[in-house]
Amino acid sequence: MEIKQVLDYRKDFPILNRVSYLDNAATSLTPKEVVEEMNKYYFDYNANVHRGVHELSEKATVAYNDAREKVAKFINANSKEIVFTSGTTESLNLVAKSLGLKKGDEVVLTEMEHHSNIVPWQQLGLDIKYIKVVDGKLENIHEVITEKTKVVSLTHVSNVLGTINDVKLIAEVAHEKGALLVIDGAQAVAHLKVDVRDLDCDFYCFSGHKMFGPTGMGVLYGKKELLSEMNVFNTGGGMISEVTKEGFKEGEVPSKFEAGTPNIAGAIGLAKAVDYISKVDLGNDLVDYCVSRLKELDFVDIYGSGSSMVAFNVKGVHAHDVATILDRFNVAIRAGHMCAMPLVKEVLKLNAVCRASFCFYNNKEDVDKMIEGLKKVNEVFNGTDL
Ligand code: PMP
Repeated sequence: MEIKQVLDYRKDFPILNRVSYLDNAATSLTPKEVVEEMNKYYFDYNANVHRGVHELSEKATVAYNDAREKVAKFINANSKEIVFTSGTTESLNLVAKSLGLKKGDEVVLTEMEHHSNIVPWQQLGLDIKYIKVVDGKLENIHEVITEKTKVVSLTHVSNVLGTINDVKLIAEVAHEKGALLVIDGAQAVAHLKVDVRDLDCDFYCFSGHKMFGPTGMGVLYGKKELLSEMNVFNTGGGMISEVTKEGFKEGEVPSKFEAGTPNIAGAIGLAKAVDYISKVDLGNDLVDYCVSRLKELDFVDIYGSGSSMVAFNVKGVHAHDVATILDRFNVAIRAGHMCAMPLVKEVLKLNAVCRASFCFYNNKEDVDKMIEGLKKVNEVFNGTDL
């Protein structure tokens, strides 16, 4: 990508004037035009959707429906297959809890899952088998996914190591054995072109705030015939076709999964983020640059690098201390277990890691500032400046 382009993009994100923001895998920054689009809803046509007959409500309803169309197109789905949720976490909970699984049913996850793709399945008392992670990659897929497997649920991109999993191959293996495939796309949508038809996944989950959209807004894609058969999740207004004193009839997909007033501004902002993504060049080779700069530092251990992120530690220093010192250099990174304790603690055998994660608006200076900060961390904690 041309440097000029990166500089142009950076103007859309005022926070970048103050901070080298390398925590994009936690939350990406939001460009001005996405925020302005949401403001327009609040200032010009703030009203509820699907309910009123007045002009404002009609305008809000059109914008909300258009947002669904746009998001559907973004991942090559049909708009009836797009359920708006509060984020990846809610999308995964919805799938796990609405499929009608019974205690003891077998579900396959991987050792590199985020807690959002572990805990909802654990809560149901299922028999969970894990695909192992060896050297950052998935192993023995064919042995773990068997005829007994009801669902395979895994991340498209690891939020710790940046590994891009071959989810298309796993879809084939799962379907061959008669299992459904759920993909956690939280770390993928801002970096890879996602086409749910080509992947042939049954469900795909993602969050607005990791793709330059608003927080509290997410998506569950599901094949229409599956969504139609599934049990409802939250219940109340908006998800029914009829209610009597005795009971209710559920509405059509996707409304049957959208009880209550939805995040209208969030949907409008997410659609604008989709527009924004289509304008920018998402390719960015900062991972290679970052790894080569980190390798110059003999006091750093690197655990993995891949799509848009690098995981590392400074020898003998807790990741939280590293991140705190970097913060003084106006460099923001993430430190901790990354909400992936089974991977960090049980596979990597670490208490915590540092993660630098990049987006198209980052540049080499952001990485260089981090490297200077890491040298200071080493001086302070490993005593070379005493
Ligand atoms: N899965 C992965 C791989 C993630 O990185 C995250 C966010 N860290 C989540 C799920 C959860 O996303 P959210 O908090 O937006 O629901």
